Amino acid sequence: MAKSIVTQPRSDKKSEHNDPISSSIRLREPRQSGMAKHFVTTDPGIDLTENRFFGRFLKKSLRNRKFQFFLILPNQIIFWIVIATGIFGVSDPGRNFGPAITWYLWFALVFVLMAVIGRAWCAMCPFGGFGEWIQRRTLFQRTQKSLGLGKKLPESWAGHGLLISSIVFVILTFLEEFFNIAGPGVPIATSIMVLSIVAFATLSFLLFERRTFCRYLCPLSSVIATAGAMGSVAGFRTKDRNVCLSCKTKDCMRGGEDGFGCPWYTWPGSADSNAFCGLCSECYKSCPSDNIGLFVQKPLTSVIAPTRRRFDIGISVAILFGLVLYQQYNALGWYGSVDDWLNSQINFPHYPNPIAYLGGIALAVGAIWLGVLGIQKLGGLRTIVGQKTSWFVAFAYAIIPITGMDYFARQLPKLLKHVVRVPSAVVSPLGINLGIYKVHLLTDPRIVTVQVGVMGLGTALTLWSTYRIAKTDIQLNASRPKLALAGAMGFALVICVAASVLYMPMHAAS
Ligand code: SF4
Ligand code: SF4
Ligand code: SF4
Repeated sequence: MAKSIVTQPRSDKKSEHNDPISSSIRLREPRQSGMAKHFVTTDPGIDLTENRFFGRFLKKSLRNRKFQFFLILPNQIIFWIVIATGIFGVSDPGRNFGPAITWYLWFALVFVLMAVIGRAWCAMCPFGGFGEWIQRRTLFQRTQKSLGLGKKLPESWAGHGLLISSIVFVILTFLEEFFNIAGPGVPIATSIMVLSIVAFATLSFLLFERRTFCRYLCPLSSVIATAGAMGSVAGFRTKDRNVCLSCKTKDCMRGGEDGFGCPWYTWPGSADSNAFCGLCSECYKSCPSDNIGLFVQKPLTSVIAPTRRRFDIGISVAILFGLVLYQQYNALGWYGSVDDWLNSQINFPHYPNPIAYLGGIALAVGAIWLGVLGIQKLGGLRTIVGQKTSWFVAFAYAIIPITGMDYFARQLPKLLKHVVRVPSAVVSPLGINLGIYKVHLLTDPRIVTVQVGVMGLGTALTLWSTYRIAKTDIQLNASRPKLALAGAMGFALVICVAASVLYMPMHAAS
């Protein structure tokens, strides 16, 4: 039996990255002796690189250093066209390619990728891709020297994990609402927003090492890590941990001849969710023992099964749920007068009132926290054995599906009413009028039906996740397990129904 195995720290507050071998990875005793599969409940099982139909092709593609470059390149080209057309194109946002593709198609598409796959967008993202090309001084080659200062994010920041990303997302959304960027408003506003993110990302890549930006700072990272937990791609992981035990080089983390060390500070031997694998395939290229595979898992596995639930993910889910709820009730008829009144009290120029915005998010987080406290009292819940995090975090994981689906449902009016404007905007500079500018794919009542259907699916998935999480943890840690289970299921149902019902009076508001 091996004496020890390498794993990431269990605590969220411990060193998040620093030197990937010496400080971010700690030694601890294995939970099972002689096990080749080390994820136990989270072992995804199916390695796509071993698939008998396309495994060989996949292996060859993943070994190719141009693999990720060709994933990023099309999006990189589109994003620079978005920026250019937003600045130089026509002033009507619906007829301008930049805002049209960004807000009528891209945002909804990213949510589908998250829900179905996980961090698929991150594998092809132009923000991270652009910064990384500059940092590595190459488009795809394995270089040894990087450009920039290569600093580590201070531990006092890194210890907060995804919480920083969530805060950046909240700030960005406020600015987007304030300037009516995603409305969409004037096309140049979309260009400025995209350029600002590119500039923020590039500066971060030049200041900090690896993908510090993606792991901690990117406004989309917390959304993708949380909603992406529903996805079926577990990520790149080690095939046999026993091989890793005798591995002296740890090239997957340090970098080897053919690949960089993991840019996301993830050791593929200890990942128990898909939250921090950016699917870049560097570990696949660098492992000298061919001990890395690309694994798929059942949907919701990263919601239900992580052996180490993280506080930063839990609090991010609660914040993101509060934010999307705010975006729902701010579309209701009465909200405008409340916002106006609040603005008149603090002399704030116009919607959105910052107190209502931040207060609304805080209220939702507080309500979830109070609800979980009630379940704890009701069921006599003790500290969760084997988890250092609280019941609040466990419940927050359970509501990941309704939160993700809520964001997707909120995008549906733009997608289903206006997506045909994208091909119109593509061909209109050539003087071609497709005559479909005003075509809606669905009428408003039908869009509401689809939204409620999406939320219904989110509700079913949330109830299933709540049941699975509660069943495992409550049975072990409650003095009145039946009451606790009923309380958790009831509270989850209340949250889901409240968010779903809101779509009816919203009347498919964009
Ligand atoms: S974390 Fe953000 S910047 Fe990084 S790859 Fe994902 S979406 Fe792109
Ligand atoms: S380089 Fe390969 S064998 Fe070594 S620790 Fe990483 S995955 Fe395991
Ligand atoms: S190096 Fe491997 S574990 Fe790290 S982000 Fe890339 S694919 Fe995922």
